[in-house]
Parts: sequence; C-alpha cells; structure tokens
Amino acid sequence: MFNSKIVVTGGSGFIGGHLMRRLLKDPSNQVFNIDKLGYASDLFSLKIFKEKNNYFHINLDLKEKKKLLKIIKTISPGIIFHLAAESHVDNSILDPSEFIQSNIVGTFNLLEAFRSNWESMPKMRKLNSRFIHISTDEVFGSIEDNNKFNELSRYDPRSPYSASKASSDLLVKAWHNTYGIPIIISNCSNNYGPFQFPEKLIPKTIINCINQKNIPLYGNGENIRDWLYVEDHIDALLLLANKGNVGESYCVGGYGEIKNIEIVENICSLMDEIAPVNIKYNSLIKFVQDRPGHDKRYSIDSNKILKELGWEPKFTLINGLQKTINWYLNNNKWYE
Ligand code: NAD
Repeated sequence: MFNSKIVVTGGSGFIGGHLMRRLLKDPSNQVFNIDKLGYASDLFSLKIFKEKNNYFHINLDLKEKKKLLKIIKTISPGIIFHLAAESHVDNSILDPSEFIQSNIVGTFNLLEAFRSNWESMPKMRKLNSRFIHISTDEVFGSIEDNNKFNELSRYDPRSPYSASKASSDLLVKAWHNTYGIPIIISNCSNNYGPFQFPEKLIPKTIINCINQKNIPLYGNGENIRDWLYVEDHIDALLLLANKGNVGESYCVGGYGEIKNIEIVENICSLMDEIAPVNIKYNSLIKFVQDRPGHDKRYSIDSNKILKELGWEPKFTLINGLQKTINWYLNNNKWYE
C-alpha cells in the first residue's frame, strides 16, 4: 500500500474502527491509533485490535500538542487519516466547548505535528506522504430540493458541530496552501452500519425496536439526509489516499437520500420481516420537539470521485440497512 506506517486518529470511533479493521488485515501495515477514548469509543473492538501484532495504541487527546508532536516525530507516518472529532450535533448544541477544542484545536495540533515531521523527510517520502482529513457534508449547510452540494459549494455551517468541522477544513486547506503539506479532504454524507454508537438515528431506531421502546423522531420527520454505508466510505477513503489529487476535496455521498420519517419507517418494516413481534414496529415512532437550527436537507453530488477515481457505493440503502439490522440483532452484548 501507500506506506506501511499509518496513523489513524479516532480509530476507536465508528468510522475509524471500520478503517482500522480494513488496514489491520494487511500485515505489512503498521497501524497507530491515536484516540482519547471518549464516551463514544468502542472498547470492545479495541481489545480485538490490541491482539494484532501490527496494531499500536496511543491513548492521547489531540489537545496535548507537545506529546502529539513527539509521537508523530517518533512514528514518522507516511499517512495520517484524521477522524478524531466530537461528532454528535445534539451534544454540540448543549455544550460547544469540547467541539472547539477537539475539532479545531485538535486539528491544528495534528497539522503542526504532521508538518514538522513532513518537512524533515527525504524528498521521495515527502512526495508519497498524505494527510487525509475526514469531514462532513454538514459544512455546506442546508440545501433546497433538486440542488446538490459539490466540491465548489459555499461553506455555510449552521450548528456548533458543523462550524467546528468547517473551521478544521479551512485550517487543513490553509496548511496546504501555506506550507505545501499534501492534504486531501473528504466531505461525506451521514454514515451508518455496524458498530455505530447508539446515540445516532439508525442504531437508536434499531435498538429501540429490539427493546420495544419509543423511537423519538425530531419535528415532523421531513428532514432529508443522504445515507452512506460505512464500508463504502472506507473504500472511498483508501482510494483517496492512494489515488486522490493532493490539495483537493472530494464529496462522498451514498446515493441514499431519504426523509428521516421514511428511513425510520423502512427500518420498522425490515424489523417486521426479520424479527416479527406482536406489534408493528412503526407504532413505536414518537415525534418530539425539533432540534434548534435543524438543517432541512443535505444532498451530495459524488460525480467528481466517480469520474476521477471510479468510486461509487456498492450498497443500496436497503442492503445496507438489512446488514446493519442483522448485526445489531446478533450483537446485543456490544451495544449493551
Ligand atoms: P465517533 O464519535 O464515533 O468517534 C470519534 C472518535 O474520536 C472517538 O473514539 C473519540 O474518542 C475520538 N476523539 C474525539 N476527540 C478526540 C480528541 N480530542 N483526541 C483524541 N481522540 C478524540 O465519530 P465517527 O462517527 O466515527 O466520525 C469520525 C469522523 O468522521 C469525524 O471527524 C466526523 O466529523 C466525520 N464524519 C462522520 C459522519 C457520520 O455520519 N458518522 C459523517 C460525516 C463525517
């Protein structure tokens, strides 16, 4: 692959964990996971990672700049996949401060650590090195029907979470323009799949169905999201690291645009088929007061990554949901 020494930040989170599993399969990769192990971290998977000879765990908060500089210098990775971030919009509304610290200051510290090491590399290593920054479509704000976000869309973040991610994207772009560091940014839509922390819509809906508890749905459920199966996202990230153009952003969508009420109804119907009980699962849906500043619609145009690199999602929304539901049904120990 690109370089055997790979740093993943946030490798104990949902998407980072899927990336770790993929990278660890290749024994020639040495994979270093820098994660502070916060409330959303997957300690169950961590135990399994730690059994692998090519896994190295670094329990560190990206806020600790001095330690981070030293660690990156010692590892001297060829590539960093930067996923560590506070990621739940509701938490950012309740208390934005940790989002500013982790997502903005943390990214700044990581960029500085990467830069300091990269500048001291021999020319060929410098050329092959990459800083892959994992961002979100939420940096673009909300979009009206029939339009789609692409790489040229104006940044218009509307929650403390999306503002912190937008700020980190701008830092990454500036570090490329000013210092020449080889960055690539992915702006992807909502991910879903196995191992996702139950605070997010899809796992929460599935788990509440399993436990026959109310399924809370914001407002009237008309908000539209584009859903990307996490394994498809990992394919895109690996492709970007290998073949993406340095200095550029790529929008990565799942071709799975749907209203929140519809995706919850879909999950309920699939649950009726896969795990029938004496009620219809959709009777558990309860509308609750809307989230402040709730973006109406996100929609991603993935044409650039399709045309330039040939990536497109392999999973349809229904295939992905079936796989995800079956995983939660068979892994109650994990989420409990
Ligand atoms: P997650 O919340 O499941 O995991 C994040 C991980 O980062 C956790 O293990 C946490 O401990 C770690 N972390 C957070 N702050 C840290 C810090 N200061 N220092 C060290 N570790 C820290 O998140 P996720 O859903 O896997 O998202 C990963 C990345 O992808 C994030 O950057 C997020 O903004 C982005 N993203 C996620 C989605 C999605 O739908 N989940 C969509 C678009 C973009």
